[in-house]
Amino acid sequence: MTATIIDGRAVAERLRERIAARTAELAQQGLVPGLAVVLVGDDPASQVYVGSKTQQAAAAGIKHFDHRLPATTDTAQLIELVNKLNAQPDVHGILVQLPLPSGVDSAAVLAAIDPAKDVDGFHAVNAGRLALGQPATVPCTPLGCLILIRAVLPNLAGKRAVVVGRSNIVGKPMAQLLLQNDCTVTIAHSRTRDLPQLCREAEILVAAIGRPKAIAGDWIRPGAVVIDVGINRVTVDGKNKLVGDVDYEGALAHAGAITPVPGGVGPMTIACLLMNTLNAAIRSRHGDQGGLLTV
Ligand code: NDP
Repeated sequence: MTATIIDGRAVAERLRERIAARTAELAQQGLVPGLAVVLVGDDPASQVYVGSKTQQAAAAGIKHFDHRLPATTDTAQLIELVNKLNAQPDVHGILVQLPLPSGVDSAAVLAAIDPAKDVDGFHAVNAGRLALGQPATVPCTPLGCLILIRAVLPNLAGKRAVVVGRSNIVGKPMAQLLLQNDCTVTIAHSRTRDLPQLCREAEILVAAIGRPKAIAGDWIRPGAVVIDVGINRVTVDGKNKLVGDVDYEGALAHAGAITPVPGGVGPMTIACLLMNTLNAAIRSRHGDQGGLLTV
């Protein structure tokens, strides 16, 4: 068996086209979705991520408000900025790029964001709503993973799903989304016993670990849908390379469908950020029944 490659770039492009079309409709009604992007310090990877986010926002018709602050910015100053953005009517989404400098209380800053503008879906109110099955802003990466799974597996009901990784931004919300879609879900982590055997049960396997090629090819159940969230920088033959958490070459012979790294989950994360911003703008005017973009 050779796996179908799930082309995250193509799926993300189609989603961005839908977002741009809906944004154009809203603009005719005088509503321009606005995204405030807060970047603290000069971490090179964060600068690249923020650059991609603002560029893609602009291309989709979303106005962005950039706030670049020095690494010396403290928690109180950041919360003050967040409070200003909470009150700014043309800002519908607030993105505070992580990681924040080590001296800053990241949890306090994220908690200060108005849940209605929390387009990353990290606020406790949104996490709680997701767990309760209520309308919520869902974190962008797991939402993107769900869209990719659905692209190859339209009916998830009853599927055996395993999520490896239990972070608040990927693993836990991913498990909630799969549960909402009627999968039978297990969350694995660093203390899980016999991970290979558990993975072999999975018809849907999501790897969000942060360790290069931690999941071997022969851990994959034949025909499984494999979503590789991991982004790991490694050096091969003196060259820098990005690899996922799954041994991609090894998995190709077993999986039914698999996301590559790069070009799988990564592009979906930004597209879902734009979708969350668009929907926050729609909700601000029309509430939950106002024609939100759905997946
Ligand atoms: P975290 O470090 O927050 O969480 C990693 C999780 O993996 C933890 O729950 C940890 O378990 C578990 N884990 C670590 N080692 C093992 C192991 N050997 N076996 C089983 N489980 C293990 O990472 P994130 O969730 O933030 O990110 C995960 C990966 O996804 C990273 O590579 C990150 O770069 C990538 N990522 C990609 C995004 C994208 O857009 N494509 C967006 C966000 C993240 P424990 O809790 O027990 O420590």
